[in-house]
Amino acid sequence: RTSCDAAGVVAGIRAVAATIAEHKVELTRLDRDIGDGDHGENMARGFTAVLAKLDAGEPDTPSAVLKLVASTLISTVGGAAGPLYGTAFLRASTAVKEATTLDPQAIVTALTAGRDGVVARGKAELEDKTMVDALTPAVNAARAAADAGGDVAAVLRAAANDAAMGAAATIPLQARKGRASYLGARSIGHQDPGATSTAYLLEALAAVAEK
Ligand code: ADP
Ligand code: MG
Ligand code: MG
Repeated sequence: RTSCDAAGVVAGIRAVAATIAEHKVELTRLDRDIGDGDHGENMARGFTAVLAKLDAGEPDTPSAVLKLVASTLISTVGGAAGPLYGTAFLRASTAVKEATTLDPQAIVTALTAGRDGVVARGKAELEDKTMVDALTPAVNAARAAADAGGDVAAVLRAAANDAAMGAAATIPLQARKGRASYLGARSIGHQDPGATSTAYLLEALAAVAEK
Protein backbone atom coordinates (compact mmCIF):
# COMPACT_ATOMS: atom_id res chain seq x y z
CA ARG A 1 0.00 0.00 0.00
CA THR A 2 1.45 3.38 -0.98
CA SER A 3 -0.84 5.46 1.24
CA CYS A 4 -3.54 5.24 3.87
CA ASP A 5 -6.79 7.26 3.92
CA ALA A 6 -9.14 8.02 6.82
CA ALA A 7 -10.91 4.68 6.45
CA GLY A 8 -7.54 2.96 6.60
CA VAL A 9 -6.67 4.79 9.81
CA VAL A 10 -10.06 3.81 11.26
CA ALA A 11 -9.41 0.17 10.35
CA GLY A 12 -6.05 0.40 12.10
CA ILE A 13 -7.57 1.89 15.24
CA ARG A 14 -10.30 -0.76 15.33
CA ALA A 15 -7.58 -3.42 15.13
CA VAL A 16 -5.70 -1.72 17.96
CA ALA A 17 -8.84 -1.82 20.09
CA ALA A 18 -9.26 -5.54 19.42
CA THR A 19 -5.61 -6.24 20.26
CA ILE A 20 -5.75 -4.25 23.48
CA ALA A 21 -8.91 -6.13 24.54
CA GLU A 22 -7.22 -9.42 23.70
CA HIS A 23 -4.17 -8.56 25.82
CA LYS A 24 -5.99 -6.78 28.66
CA VAL A 25 -5.30 -9.45 31.26
CA GLU A 26 -1.64 -9.74 30.28
CA LEU A 27 -1.09 -5.96 30.41
CA THR A 28 -2.73 -5.81 33.82
CA ARG A 29 -0.63 -8.71 35.06
CA LEU A 30 2.56 -6.93 33.93
CA ASP A 31 1.39 -3.80 35.77
CA ARG A 32 0.64 -5.88 38.87
CA ASP A 33 4.31 -6.92 38.94
CA ILE A 34 5.75 -3.37 38.94
CA GLY A 35 2.78 -0.99 39.22
CA ASP A 36 -0.78 -0.87 40.51
CA GLY A 37 -2.26 -3.54 38.26
CA ASP A 38 -4.54 -1.43 36.11
CA HIS A 39 -2.80 -0.85 32.77
CA GLY A 40 -4.81 -3.43 30.81
CA GLU A 41 -8.08 -2.20 32.30
CA ASN A 42 -7.15 1.43 31.65
CA MET A 43 -6.25 0.81 28.01
CA ALA A 44 -9.21 -1.48 27.33
CA ARG A 45 -11.63 1.08 28.81
CA GLY A 46 -10.12 3.76 26.59
CA PHE A 47 -10.22 1.80 23.35
CA THR A 48 -13.73 0.51 24.06
CA ALA A 49 -14.78 4.16 24.29
CA VAL A 50 -12.92 4.89 21.04
CA LEU A 51 -14.84 2.09 19.29
CA ALA A 52 -18.14 3.52 20.54
CA LYS A 53 -17.22 6.94 19.14
CA LEU A 54 -16.21 5.46 15.78
CA ASP A 55 -19.47 3.49 15.64
CA ALA A 56 -21.36 6.75 16.15
CA GLY A 57 -19.61 8.33 13.15
CA GLU A 58 -16.24 8.02 11.48
CA PRO A 59 -14.24 11.22 10.90
CA ASP A 60 -13.28 11.76 7.28
CA THR A 61 -9.63 12.75 7.53
CA PRO A 62 -6.69 10.89 9.12
CA SER A 63 -6.05 13.91 11.36
CA ALA A 64 -9.64 13.94 12.64
CA VAL A 65 -9.54 10.19 13.38
CA LEU A 66 -6.33 10.61 15.38
CA LYS A 67 -7.83 13.59 17.22
CA LEU A 68 -10.92 11.58 18.16
CA VAL A 69 -8.66 8.85 19.57
CA ALA A 70 -6.63 11.44 21.50
CA SER A 71 -9.56 13.16 23.16
CA THR A 72 -11.24 9.87 24.02
CA LEU A 73 -8.10 8.37 25.56
CA ILE A 74 -7.43 11.56 27.54
CA SER A 75 -10.93 11.49 29.04
CA THR A 76 -11.22 7.73 29.70
CA VAL A 77 -7.85 6.02 30.30
CA GLY A 78 -6.61 7.87 33.37
CA GLY A 79 -3.37 7.10 35.19
CA ALA A 80 -0.03 7.92 33.61
CA ALA A 81 -0.79 6.22 30.31
CA GLY A 82 -3.99 8.16 29.49
CA PRO A 83 -2.43 11.62 29.17
CA LEU A 84 0.69 10.14 27.55
CA TYR A 85 -1.11 8.16 24.84
CA GLY A 86 -3.58 11.04 24.49
CA THR A 87 -0.73 13.46 23.86
CA ALA A 88 0.86 11.04 21.38
CA PHE A 89 -2.31 10.79 19.29
CA LEU A 90 -2.95 14.54 19.56
CA ARG A 91 0.56 15.39 18.33
CA ALA A 92 0.22 12.82 15.55
CA SER A 93 -3.11 14.39 14.57
CA THR A 94 -1.58 17.86 14.38
CA ALA A 95 1.48 16.61 12.52
CA VAL A 96 -0.45 15.13 9.60
CA LYS A 97 -2.36 18.40 9.09
CA GLU A 98 -5.03 18.39 6.38
CA ALA A 99 -3.71 15.41 4.41
CA THR A 100 -6.47 13.18 3.05
CA THR A 101 -4.05 10.26 2.74
CA LEU A 102 -0.89 9.37 4.63
CA ASP A 103 2.13 8.25 2.64
CA PRO A 104 5.12 6.49 4.27
CA GLN A 105 6.85 9.77 5.15
CA ALA A 106 3.64 11.10 6.73
CA ILE A 107 3.42 7.94 8.84
CA VAL A 108 6.98 8.58 10.03
CA THR A 109 6.09 12.21 10.76
CA ALA A 110 3.07 11.10 12.80
CA LEU A 111 5.00 8.48 14.76
CA THR A 112 7.83 10.93 15.45
CA ALA A 113 5.44 13.63 16.64
CA GLY A 114 3.66 11.12 18.87
CA ARG A 115 6.91 9.96 20.46
CA ASP A 116 8.09 13.56 20.91
CA GLY A 117 4.79 14.36 22.64
CA VAL A 118 5.23 11.49 25.10
CA VAL A 119 8.77 12.65 25.86
CA ALA A 120 7.70 16.28 26.26
CA ARG A 121 4.93 15.33 28.64
CA GLY A 122 6.54 12.50 30.64
CA LYS A 123 10.21 13.54 30.49
CA ALA A 124 11.35 9.93 30.19
CA GLU A 125 14.69 9.18 28.57
CA LEU A 126 15.66 5.99 26.81
CA GLU A 127 16.14 3.08 29.25
CA ASP A 128 13.98 4.64 31.97
CA LYS A 129 11.78 1.54 31.42
CA THR A 130 8.72 3.25 29.91
CA MET A 131 6.76 3.25 26.67
CA VAL A 132 9.49 5.49 25.23
CA ASP A 133 11.72 2.38 25.10
CA ALA A 134 9.29 0.92 22.55
CA LEU A 135 8.40 4.18 20.79
CA THR A 136 11.90 5.45 20.03
CA PRO A 137 13.20 2.28 18.35
CA ALA A 138 9.89 2.15 16.46
CA VAL A 139 10.33 5.71 15.17
CA ASN A 140 13.92 5.04 14.15
CA ALA A 141 13.03 1.82 12.33
CA ALA A 142 10.06 3.47 10.60
CA ARG A 143 12.24 6.31 9.37
CA ALA A 144 14.87 3.89 8.03
CA ALA A 145 12.19 1.85 6.25
CA ALA A 146 10.59 4.93 4.68
CA ASP A 147 13.95 6.33 3.60
CA ALA A 148 14.71 2.98 1.97
CA GLY A 149 11.54 3.33 -0.12
CA GLY A 150 9.30 1.08 1.95
CA ASP A 151 5.51 1.34 1.60
CA VAL A 152 3.07 1.99 4.46
CA ALA A 153 3.00 -1.68 5.47
CA ALA A 154 6.80 -1.94 5.45
CA VAL A 155 7.15 1.20 7.58
CA LEU A 156 4.62 0.00 10.15
CA ARG A 157 6.11 -3.52 10.16
CA ALA A 158 9.56 -2.10 10.90
CA ALA A 159 8.10 0.05 13.67
CA ALA A 160 6.19 -2.86 15.20
CA ASN A 161 9.15 -5.25 15.14
CA ASP A 162 11.51 -2.79 16.79
CA ALA A 163 8.87 -1.74 19.33
CA ALA A 164 8.52 -5.40 20.34
CA MET A 165 12.28 -5.70 20.73
CA GLY A 166 12.34 -2.46 22.72
CA ALA A 167 9.58 -3.70 25.02
CA ALA A 168 11.43 -6.98 25.64
CA ALA A 169 14.61 -5.02 26.32
CA THR A 170 12.91 -3.24 29.26
CA ILE A 171 13.03 -6.47 31.31
CA PRO A 172 16.57 -6.02 32.73
CA LEU A 173 16.14 -2.26 33.26
CA GLN A 174 15.47 -0.48 36.55
CA ALA A 175 12.54 1.93 36.23
CA ARG A 176 13.33 5.62 36.61
CA LYS A 177 9.87 7.04 35.74
CA GLY A 178 6.30 6.26 36.75
CA ARG A 179 5.04 4.05 39.57
CA ALA A 180 7.54 1.30 38.80
CA SER A 181 10.36 3.67 39.81
CA TYR A 182 9.09 3.52 43.42
CA LEU A 183 10.22 -0.13 43.47
CA GLY A 184 13.85 0.75 42.78
CA ALA A 185 15.89 -2.36 41.99
CA ARG A 186 12.82 -4.55 42.48
CA SER A 187 11.52 -3.28 39.11
CA ILE A 188 14.36 -5.22 37.43
CA GLY A 189 13.34 -8.48 35.76
CA HIS A 190 9.86 -7.42 34.63
CA GLN A 191 8.69 -6.13 31.24
CA ASP A 192 7.24 -2.61 31.29
CA PRO A 193 3.46 -2.61 30.74
CA GLY A 194 3.37 0.65 28.75
CA ALA A 195 6.19 -0.42 26.44
CA THR A 196 4.28 -3.66 25.93
CA SER A 197 1.00 -1.94 25.04
CA THR A 198 2.89 0.30 22.61
CA ALA A 199 4.34 -2.78 20.90
CA TYR A 200 0.87 -4.37 20.62
CA LEU A 201 -0.60 -1.13 19.26
CA LEU A 202 2.01 -0.90 16.50
CA GLU A 203 1.71 -4.64 15.75
CA ALA A 204 -2.02 -4.18 15.15
CA LEU A 205 -1.41 -1.23 12.81
CA ALA A 206 1.22 -3.20 10.88
CA ALA A 207 -1.02 -6.26 10.56
CA VAL A 208 -3.88 -4.18 9.12
CA ALA A 209 -1.57 -2.42 6.66
CA GLU A 210 -0.25 -5.79 5.48
CA LYS A 211 -3.72 -7.10 4.61
P1 ADP B 1 -0.48 4.25 36.28
O1 ADP B 1 0.96 3.87 36.49
O2 ADP B 1 -0.75 5.66 36.61
O3 ADP B 1 -1.42 3.27 36.93
P2 ADP B 1 -0.77 2.87 33.76
O4 ADP B 1 -0.63 1.63 34.58
O5 ADP B 1 -1.96 2.91 32.86
O6 ADP B 1 -0.74 4.15 34.68
O7 ADP B 1 0.51 3.03 32.82
C1 ADP B 1 1.79 2.70 33.30
C2 ADP B 1 2.78 2.89 32.16
O8 ADP B 1 2.92 4.27 31.85
C3 ADP B 1 4.18 2.42 32.49
O9 ADP B 1 4.33 1.04 32.24
C4 ADP B 1 5.06 3.27 31.58
O10 ADP B 1 5.30 2.64 30.33
C5 ADP B 1 4.21 4.49 31.33
N1 ADP B 1 4.78 5.66 31.98
C6 ADP B 1 4.67 6.02 33.29
N2 ADP B 1 5.30 7.19 33.51
C7 ADP B 1 5.84 7.56 32.32
C8 ADP B 1 6.61 8.69 31.86
N3 ADP B 1 6.96 9.68 32.69
N4 ADP B 1 6.97 8.73 30.55
C9 ADP B 1 6.62 7.75 29.70
N5 ADP B 1 5.88 6.68 30.06
C10 ADP B 1 5.50 6.58 31.34
MG1 MG C 1 -0.98 1.20 36.53
MG1 MG D 1 -3.16 3.46 38.05
